[in-house]
Order: sequence, then structure tokens, then C-alpha cells
Amino acid sequence: MLLEVDELRAGYHGLEILHGLSLTVGEAEVVAIVGANGAGKSTTLKALAGEVRQYGGAVRFDGRPVGHGRSHLVARRGLMLVPENRALFGSLTVEDNLRMGSWGRRGREGFSEAEVLELFPILRERRSQRAETMSGGQQQMLAIARALMGAPRLLMLDEPSTGLSPKLTWDVFHAVHAIRERGVSVLIVEQNAGQVLKLADRAYVLESGSVALEGEAVALADDERIRAAYLGG
Ligand code: ATP
Repeated sequence: MLLEVDELRAGYHGLEILHGLSLTVGEAEVVAIVGANGAGKSTTLKALAGEVRQYGGAVRFDGRPVGHGRSHLVARRGLMLVPENRALFGSLTVEDNLRMGSWGRRGREGFSEAEVLELFPILRERRSQRAETMSGGQQQMLAIARALMGAPRLLMLDEPSTGLSPKLTWDVFHAVHAIRERGVSVLIVEQNAGQVLKLADRAYVLESGSVALEGEAVALADDERIRAAYLGG
């Protein structure tokens, strides 16, 4: 397994939010985490990126531990988080944002700038536009594109569909599919379970900081409990 999370307990200022969470992500696999508001989805991704304090359990990426406070080192090893707020360099152009992304590459083979622009053609047209002047959907694409420039082995996306129309959401999900085809694993958090379960290979349902259900995404999409709680019955 590329990522192994074993009984992880983590939270903020001594307050435990994740209560013994276990999950795995394999090579070239798309795994979804779904769950209600406040279930701990974002906290999970931040903990995996080394941004949240761990109180117990273990996180291993490519066989080596991921600890708290080492997020830049974790990214250099190829575990990259695209946060919900996208964290772009707003005053820089699309092109410069992409260049900044390639600094973490460390000799790993990955997407070239031309390939990234092929994946998101709108960014080619907007190459010299400042990031902060673009629409939410375009900024989301740029945030993913910038992460790809760092040659991730596992890309973590926190609610990439936030603020996007259904059409743009499908464009982003289509890109995720293409990213996986290139051998990169994707761990994707979404509140909207309906669409993401069609995209993912496997999924975990989070409830109050632990895994309530897990399995093949197609099976979960058919599960009565999921349908009732997240897909409107
Ligand atoms: P959402 O879809 O609303 O983002 P989520 O499933 O991603 O939900 P989290 O954002 O991980 O949930 O939040 C889980 C819990 O952790 C919530 O109770 C939240 O208030 C708390 N929390 C999140 N961030 C912090 C923080 N920086 N400091 C303290 N508590 C936090």
C-alpha cells in the first residue's frame, strides 16, 4: 500500500477529532472519503499531510512515517494536499503558479507543463492571467495543476467541487480519472457522495471522526444507508 493509516487519533489543541481512523490507498487508486459536515474529512487530509497533531496511531506513506509539523517534507516525498481554500498565489500568473509547483519535484518523473495544460486547456488560454482574477472553477483547476507540477505520487483533494457548477465538477473529475491513468493515486474528500462514488474505486464513510462504512464505491452507492443519508434516499 502507498498510504497506510492505522488507528489514527488526531485533533486540535488537545481536542480529539479523529478517534482511531484506519484507511489505505494503493498505487494508482482513487479513494473517496465522504461524510456529513464536521465528520472530520478535512481534518483527516490535514493530518495525513502532517498539518494536524497526532495523538496516537500511525500514518505511513511509502513505508515511512508521516509525523506532525513536517508538511513540506511530506510534500517533497510526493504526498500532496490541495486544500479546500486552494492556497494559490493570487497575485501571480497561472504560469508562475505552475512554476512554483515544480519546485517540490525532487527529480521525480511527473507531468510536464505541456501535459498539465493539456489536461486543463482553459489554463493555457489564461496563462498570463493573475490567479486571483479567475473564476472558482478555474482556480480549482489551477490548484490541481500546480500540485501535479510537483510530481505527486498521491494527490489529496479537499472538496474540489466546492463552488463549481455540475459541468465544471465533471471536468475536474474527468481530470482525476486521467491523473490516475498516469499512475498517480488520488484521495478525494467530498460532501456530495453521489458524483464522487461514480469516480472512485473505493470509499470510506466518516461519521464523528471514525470510519462508519467502507468498501467498493459502486457497492456503497447502492447501500441503503448511504442512499438515505447522503444521496437523498
Ligand atoms: P466540512 O465539510 O464542514 O469541512 P469535515 O468533515 O471536513 O466538514 P472537519 O473540517 O475536519 O470536518 O472538522 C471536524 C471537526 O474539527 C469540527 O468539529 C470542527 O469544528 C473541528 N475543527 C476543524 N478545524 C479546526 C481547528 N483549526 N481548530 C479547532 N477545531 C477545528
